[in-house]
Amino acid sequence: MCIRQLEKVHQAIQAYRRDHKDLPNFLSDLVPKYISDPDLLVCPITRKTKRTHSVEHLKDPKMPLVYLYEFSPLPMGDIWGGGQVRMRDFKRRQMGLVGGEVPIVRCFLHERVLNLAFDGRVYESGMNWEDNYAGYVEPAAWRVENLFADSPRTAPRPPSPPPVESGPEDLVRKPAPEFSLSQLDGNTFDLAAHQHKHIVLLDFWATWCGPCRAAMPTLVDIARDYSGRGVRYFAVNLREDPETIRRYLKDTRLDIVVPLDKDGSVAKKYGVRGIPTMVIVGVDGIVKKVHVGSSPRLKTELTRTLDELLAANSPEAAATENLTPAQLEKSQCEQNLKKIFAAVKAYQKDHGNSPNWLSDLVPTYLDDTNILICPGERQAGAVTTYPGLEDPRVKTSYTYDFCAREVPSTVWGGAPITMREWKNRQRKLYGDAVPMIRCTHHDPILNISYGGELFESSLTWEGDGMT
Ligand SMILES: [Zn+2]
Ligand SMILES: [Zn+2]
Repeated sequence: MCIRQLEKVHQAIQAYRRDHKDLPNFLSDLVPKYISDPDLLVCPITRKTKRTHSVEHLKDPKMPLVYLYEFSPLPMGDIWGGGQVRMRDFKRRQMGLVGGEVPIVRCFLHERVLNLAFDGRVYESGMNWEDNYAGYVEPAAWRVENLFADSPRTAPRPPSPPPVESGPEDLVRKPAPEFSLSQLDGNTFDLAAHQHKHIVLLDFWATWCGPCRAAMPTLVDIARDYSGRGVRYFAVNLREDPETIRRYLKDTRLDIVVPLDKDGSVAKKYGVRGIPTMVIVGVDGIVKKVHVGSSPRLKTELTRTLDELLAANSPEAAATENLTPAQLEKSQCEQNLKKIFAAVKAYQKDHGNSPNWLSDLVPTYLDDTNILICPGERQAGAVTTYPGLEDPRVKTSYTYDFCAREVPSTVWGGAPITMREWKNRQRKLYGDAVPMIRCTHHDPILNISYGGELFESSLTWEGDGMT
């Protein structure tokens, strides 16, 4: 009942914001235009018992029985020692930390506090909803003086030192820390049981985390698409009670296996600092990939790793396609070239010219710099670039022929013009067949042309096919 009311209050606040370009000062401002029935602002329990929240100095001036509204212009008083700081300013600073998860309205009359988040979701917490973020937000960051640390009105404090523990990325190519946890369904999850059998996709998450919720359907999709090839998905929940998780899964109709990391010790083992954090563990028990956060490219990134693993991990798969290791490397390299080419095209569309370097694509057009290394070179452990044409910022094994370097002496003796100027001249002669990106790891060399065609050539492609 109360939850449904809170959802209606959210709609009313949104309507008020649209009209006024600002939040209401008090919930009573919503009556009668945005909420015709004032009872919707009063918890059903309050209606029966007349009990309401006990934060006297934040009570609504016109309707003292309504929910606690957190974005009023009233001073914080003894809350977190905020004194004269207005609640609204304080909350806006909190949103800088955790975004739309900050509660705008709260109801304290239930066993667990019900919070209406700024973004409209209703979730439970203890008295301090901030505790939901234990482990993800430095406790000191919540302090009022730190939230306003950049403001001249309060004395600045030295920033807290950066965490010294290692992050989850450090686990890549190392054995995945072993763990076993009880699951939401009562069974036990044991990572070791999957070794030699499955590729395991771990997802550290919580229901209160917006990006986790955003990523989850994608992960479920991936799990479904790859389950036939031995990939298993486990959504490791952090520190939430089973009821909250169950309700969330019911609401979203997600059918997933949820190991319960009740004290966060497994997340700690994995160096998880923010969620969602996804970890791909190979059948050999080695961490292959760590992805932190949700992004539109999440699916592409994770499936590429899975595809590579499945291709590399199963000699049978390679054999059935009759691919030699060199051919496999080549086909993976071709995928990289296509992705880099697409990123260059996207860059050109936005900027009206080609990037000066492949590193200009990172991170807006290309968020995974691994793509800039030929799988063959990575295997060999030696990343080499064509001499004189190195990228100034990233390690790449690909030669970007439209870069901003002067034509070096290693290329036909050099010239006092940039590679790009020279290549653009060549385009007048050869059209879009001019190579844009080249991989010299293979013999013959692998090219992707300015027009997006993959082709093989010798180092001096200009001579090829000219008989
Ligand atoms: Zn209530
Ligand atoms: Zn290559």
